[in-house]
Amino acid sequence: MKSELKKTLRQKGLRCTEPRRCIVEALEKGPKTHAELLHLTGLDRVTVYRNLILLQQVGLVYRVYLPGHEPLFVLCEKEGGGFHAHFFCEKCRKGVCLPADTIQIVEPWAKQVDKVLLLGRCLHCA
Ligand SMILES: [Zn+2]
Ligand SMILES: [Zn+2]
Repeated sequence: MKSELKKTLRQKGLRCTEPRRCIVEALEKGPKTHAELLHLTGLDRVTVYRNLILLQQVGLVYRVYLPGHEPLFVLCEKEGGGFHAHFFCEKCRKGVCLPADTIQIVEPWAKQVDKVLLLGRCLHCA
């Protein structure tokens, strides 16, 4: 697990427990479905489920729904966090943290929006 991810967990008030480490390490290799995470981590269903909820609550993981596909869990790898949009490539299924100023939310919505997900094709797949 990358050291900045450990730091982010701690900053968000989450201890770096063994299940969390396993899940984050699996997601470091790319987006995964719940079933894939069960298989890769060897953890039980409830543990994976609970930790995914926690990791989403603190913004370290986000979920992507593609038509006809199981939801994918994607790791947010932006150092230091802060509001930023995510881009997800529907073809190669790669998630990217966009620079904070890519998307400007106008008032009065700026405070209301905490997640922005853009879908499309990345520069390699375009
Ligand atoms: Zn991110
Ligand atoms: Zn792509």
